[in-house]
Amino acid sequence: MDALAVNAKQARMPTWAGQVPCRYRHRCGARCGGKVPAGLDPVHLTHLECVMTFRRRDFLISLALAVLCAVVAGWAGYKMVCAAGINEQHALAERRMDIANETLEREIEKYGLLPRTAAVSPNVIDFLSRPATAEGVAEINRQLRTLNDSAGTLQTYLVDPSGRIVASSNWSEKDSFIGRDISYRPYFQNAQPGRTTGYYAVGTTGDAPGYFLASAVEDGGRRLGVVAVKLGLDQLERLWLGQPEPALMVDDNGIVVVSSVPDWKFGALRPLPAATLAHLEASQQYNHREIRTLDWKVLTTFRNGSFLVRAGTPAGTATYLAAGRPVPDLHMHMIVLSEPREVYRVAWGWAIACAALAALACALLHVLNMRRLSIRERLAMREALQASHDRLEILVEARSAELRRANEGLRREVSERIQAVKQLQSFQEELIRTENLAVIGQLSAGIAHEINQPLAALSTLSANAVRFLERNDLATVRLNLGRISDLVARMGALTGQLRSFARRSTGEIGATAVGLRVDGAVALLAHRLTKDGVVVELLPPGGVLTVLCDPVRLEQVLVNLISNAVDASSDLRVPHIQVSWGAEGESGIIRVRDNGIGLTDAVKAHLFEPFFTTKKTSGLGLGLAISADIIRGFGGALTADNNPDGGATFTITLPLAEQKETCDA
Ligand code: ADP
Repeated sequence: MDALAVNAKQARMPTWAGQVPCRYRHRCGARCGGKVPAGLDPVHLTHLECVMTFRRRDFLISLALAVLCAVVAGWAGYKMVCAAGINEQHALAERRMDIANETLEREIEKYGLLPRTAAVSPNVIDFLSRPATAEGVAEINRQLRTLNDSAGTLQTYLVDPSGRIVASSNWSEKDSFIGRDISYRPYFQNAQPGRTTGYYAVGTTGDAPGYFLASAVEDGGRRLGVVAVKLGLDQLERLWLGQPEPALMVDDNGIVVVSSVPDWKFGALRPLPAATLAHLEASQQYNHREIRTLDWKVLTTFRNGSFLVRAGTPAGTATYLAAGRPVPDLHMHMIVLSEPREVYRVAWGWAIACAALAALACALLHVLNMRRLSIRERLAMREALQASHDRLEILVEARSAELRRANEGLRREVSERIQAVKQLQSFQEELIRTENLAVIGQLSAGIAHEINQPLAALSTLSANAVRFLERNDLATVRLNLGRISDLVARMGALTGQLRSFARRSTGEIGATAVGLRVDGAVALLAHRLTKDGVVVELLPPGGVLTVLCDPVRLEQVLVNLISNAVDASSDLRVPHIQVSWGAEGESGIIRVRDNGIGLTDAVKAHLFEPFFTTKKTSGLGLGLAISADIIRGFGGALTADNNPDGGATFTITLPLAEQKETCDA
């Protein structure tokens, strides 16, 4: 019983039988035991608040990590592409500066020869070594102009040792240099023989900027003066002006002297200290020009030396990538600018692509991780289910063995019971036979009496028949033989009834005609009834009443009931027994009523108990107990009650049979 209940329980919830570890058990304190029911994928535990909380938290952490990775990747991509772009632009700037530097060097090299050559010219030495005459000045001026024009320089002039210009190629022009004192000019002060000294300045006469090249004139170690040439840097400016991106040259003080953006010219890239301004004023390098500070701010300096600068242009403020290099010969710095917008645009593109890739990779990792966890859980779940299944099988096997044992026990018990029932039946049969034998014993006297009479008659008739045969009275012989035959038939009927009563029942239940059984019982008891002067009144129904029972047994019951009725009423003056039968509802009813002593309460209480009898000598006390048992065996009942007018009535109730009697013999 227990095994069956457990099996039914197991069968009802197979998917909950095993458990797998919850992936969040280490984080939540595992108040639930850290396990989820097997068969229930944790992915689908949407109704569990704790699981949903951790799932949300994990998602947010993954999202934050993805954002962080995207930002870092974007930033790294941006930086790398930016650096590559800046390096590329720097390389371009370097090439531009190479070209410019080459042009400059070529120019300076070309024109640097001019003052050195002039300084060793006999005409110049001769002119400076002697006091000047008007003719000599005119002559040297012409020569200087010729030289200046053929070389393509702005001006060529001679300075005496005191710093006064004594001859000049522009002697005939309005703003002639002749007579000017340039002793304050560094190129004059620093001029050396056999070498060319360069210096950038704005002319004090014509306010024209230019590059001055000077070489000292000496004769036998005596300083006679200086030959100076003024160059325009137009060629360099022309070279840069053609370019779409600005370029400039600044002096050591950061003042722009050459620029492709005219607005920047003579502006300072940084505020100049007062001492520098005073020095500039003194040297008149920029001819008293006001040196304004340009809108120029270095934003970032890169590793390759280039830097990001924000500069004000006539069109507005712009950001440039700048690269510079010193030009030592000119004591200047060359700076070329380029638009970094394209670099930044490409870098931003790469940054977005890198960020997107990183975010995608993070999302992919998240999905793969979730899938890995899910697969691991599913495998664990499958294993748990398998383990649970195995456990269940073992349990079922154990329960089956238990059941088998219980079944064996039951079977043994059933066979024992069957054996006991059989024994009981055989015991009952024996009892019935015993009771029957008792009845037969009672009947035998009557039957013997019944048989004695025909036997005496038979003896007489047969003796008579012999005599009538000797007389040849065949008619009387035939008559006697006919009577003998009738008597034999009657005796046969009597013994047949007795045999029928005493015979063992087949136990076969079938439709039994009640009337025949009543007649049989009354016939068996006929002698006793006659002897005791009992009147038996039969009250049959209108038709034939058939009930379901064993006819032999029913007859035995009726004999028993009528015998008891005879016993109870035989002492009366007019004993009267009434046997009635008929159908009532679904049942067939047979009543045996007597007008005897009736049933006391004490008798009633034990009436159907075995071995209960009030009869001193003849009773066994089994008749009613066996009769009641027989009737119960047919699905009926045997009851007894007192009659209102005295005596008792025993009532047999049996199921009605639909067919006519078939089992009746
Ligand atoms: P037995 O006839 O051997 O005594 P029974 O079982 O047939 O055994 O009867 C039991 C007892 O029931 C009888 O001894 C008698 O006291 C009582 N009894 C049976 N039938 C009747 C009846 N018709 N009227 C009064 N008493 C009866």
